Amino acid sequence: MEYKIALAKGDGIGPEIVDSAIEVLDKIGSLMDYKFTYREAPVGGDAYEKFGHPLPQESIDICKDSDSILFGAVGGPRWDELPREKRPEMAILGLRRQLETFANLRPGNLFKALKEASPIKESIIGDGFDILVVRELTGGIYFGERGYKETEYGKSAYDMEIYSEFEIERIARIGFDMAMKRDKKLTSVDKANVLETSRLWRKVVDRVAKEYSEVKVNHMYIDNASMQVIRDPKAFDVILTSNMFGDIISDEISMITGSIGMLASASIGKDKKGIFEPIHGSAPDIVGKGIANPIATILSASMMLKYSFGLEKASQMIERAVEKTLEEGFRTADISGGGDFISTDEMTKEVLKRIKK
Ligand code: NAD
Repeated sequence: MEYKIALAKGDGIGPEIVDSAIEVLDKIGSLMDYKFTYREAPVGGDAYEKFGHPLPQESIDICKDSDSILFGAVGGPRWDELPREKRPEMAILGLRRQLETFANLRPGNLFKALKEASPIKESIIGDGFDILVVRELTGGIYFGERGYKETEYGKSAYDMEIYSEFEIERIARIGFDMAMKRDKKLTSVDKANVLETSRLWRKVVDRVAKEYSEVKVNHMYIDNASMQVIRDPKAFDVILTSNMFGDIISDEISMITGSIGMLASASIGKDKKGIFEPIHGSAPDIVGKGIANPIATILSASMMLKYSFGLEKASQMIERAVEKTLEEGFRTADISGGGDFISTDEMTKEVLKRIKK
């Protein structure tokens, strides 16, 4: 079976970490007899330098013509002064819009071997936790009408949150489908005591829930949920939430896992094509030093195998290899706690060695 993958390597450490993930995919390909073919789609500051735009049409076409997209990271101080529409970050926003990827999946799991990296007490984390945040990505307050108006108090600004039943229902279905593949628990997070959009959100989630009787559902206000994920992260399985609440709570959860260099994410839509990327940025402070942690991107490739291509076993082979590598004590600088560490290439090689059928 052949799978066409677009590589949007981007800026900073993007190319280094995407190259690591390619090595891992190729190893899976050779062990499992899959053929992965790659086409580079320039994005970000790199594309701006070459083509005058952070997301050139040719890159959009390459992504649309692929089965899935592996994205590195974009941005850097060199392009900070550019106007908004030319900034590297527009590449990822534009791509999500072009591909209509309305669901963002962010696993927040703590590897047992990295327990000491979490700022949470061991008595709370126990053997670790495994949360999946399912965030609505193309609606809500980030996309509503916005602007300024004159009021009796002078200039005022506004951002409007609008959610349709259609938008809530399609993201809820993704949330429930994910819960069915996991521990069958879903917490829908909103602010229904204040917001009308949240009250509609709750109603639609309850309606969809009737079709998933095996999934245990509860509703939680965002302010309470922000406390509960710290108080007892083990209590959560799938968190389903809106664009802005998801943005905030997924960052909070990534913080308690201990390292930004470990966490993967996926943005998916109505078909299987998705954008798979580490949650971190382009890390301009360490670019070219060969010390970037490639694991978040390797795990993003693993998510691609699972969610885009349905290759569950291959995806687990990668996850197990990463886990074993960490258990056996190998660390990149960001997770070494000041101790010995290995380079990006060495970490990639250690993971490769442990990928077994
Ligand atoms: P960052 O995530 O790039 O870096 C934050 C810190 O974490 C840095 O000290 C960095 O060295 C470290 N770090 C990040 N990834 C690492 C890895 N894989 N291994 C080891 N250490 C790692 O965030 P920032 O510094 O706020 O942003 C840098 C640039 O990235 C900015 O231009 C920002 O706009 C952009 N950015 C892009 C994306 C994206 O492409 N999706 C996401 C976030 C930030």
